[in-house]
Amino acid sequence: MSPPRFIVAMLAGVAALVLTGAPSASAVSPPVAVRTIYYDSSRAAELSSLVDQAADIWNTRVTSVKLEKGQAGISVSTAQNGPAPGMASCVGCTRGQITFYRNQIQQSGAGPLRVVVHEFGHILSLEHPPDIGNCDKVMAGGRCDNPYPNADEVAAVQRFWSGVLRPARPAPRHADERSTLGAPALVSR
Ligand SMILES: [Zn+2]
Repeated sequence: MSPPRFIVAMLAGVAALVLTGAPSASAVSPPVAVRTIYYDSSRAAELSSLVDQAADIWNTRVTSVKLEKGQAGISVSTAQNGPAPGMASCVGCTRGQITFYRNQIQQSGAGPLRVVVHEFGHILSLEHPPDIGNCDKVMAGGRCDNPYPNADEVAAVQRFWSGVLRPARPAPRHADERSTLGAPALVSR
């Protein structure tokens, strides 16, 4: 006869329930999702290292979205002649294309890395600001070299990908893209 053994087993079961069964009051809320946008730079030719640098520039400033090398996202290519230094096929989108045109990058006088960061800025949801040629803003275009987005641009990207996603918007028009990226730099006083 072994009733004590039975009681011990029962008590152990109760103890296990107490330890594991009750939902914890301090249950952690799920982490905020980081959106990932894949980009494929295998057809970006001599600009592919600038594409990686541009992705790094955005990745080190925003935490709600990450640009990562991979397929089925943004396909990046470089061609000889086209309508503007760079074109993004959509604004605030995870799938699409960016195309760079060598002849236009040269003619525009804009820094090539700045152009690449600008086109990713469109993918990441940014439009052109009113003060075209302001070298402090990568989305303002202009014949500038600064490749770094300013705090307002970073904050806008951070906000866009943090909340409920809004639908992608259409690409900037070719003519706008050409005149923005080739605009004279605003002289700051
Ligand atoms: Zn643009």
